[in-house]
Amino acid sequence: MKNINKYLLDNLWDDFLKLQMKPHIFDDYCSYFNTLINWLKKHIDTIGDNLITKYTLDTILHINIENYISKNPDIILSHERIRMFSQTPETIDSFLMSLSDTLWDLIKLYSGKYCPACEEGELYYVIFELITAKQKVLALECGVCGWAENIDETEWSGGLVNIYPANETDLAAYGVNKNQS
Ligand SMILES: [Zn+2]
Repeated sequence: MKNINKYLLDNLWDDFLKLQMKPHIFDDYCSYFNTLINWLKKHIDTIGDNLITKYTLDTILHINIENYISKNPDIILSHERIRMFSQTPETIDSFLMSLSDTLWDLIKLYSGKYCPACEEGELYYVIFELITAKQKVLALECGVCGWAENIDETEWSGGLVNIYPANETDLAAYGVNKNQS
């Protein structure tokens, strides 16, 4: 199992490194996002559904980045070549985790409110889809500690969910007023 994973990682990583050569990859956040997502789509069968779902990549595969692009991503495009491409990841898991963090950073809609649990992370909007009920709920999540809460600030206790990004349109649809620029 370990050797198979190592073989997979080496092959994926070799191909991932080629992305740096794409002419417009670091031009803007949308190009960067789309380049990474297209790469992911190309390798989805190799990576497998389990890992794609584990790192919350399934729910962002088909979004239109234009509708979700964050106003203030933490990512600095001119640093991405070094940050993302210069260090070979040790495991498939660490590679996919870092890829997922990067993609989600580009689309997170922050709330301006800090996490009540760790007081460190700024909460961002997400849409939770309850796996059992197929019902969708707007909620807030912390990227630092994983705290999740309902829009009324009560702790989330809804159980297993698929996590989708939320955008301004979703907020309007749920009647949430975001008092932040
Ligand atoms: Zn937190």
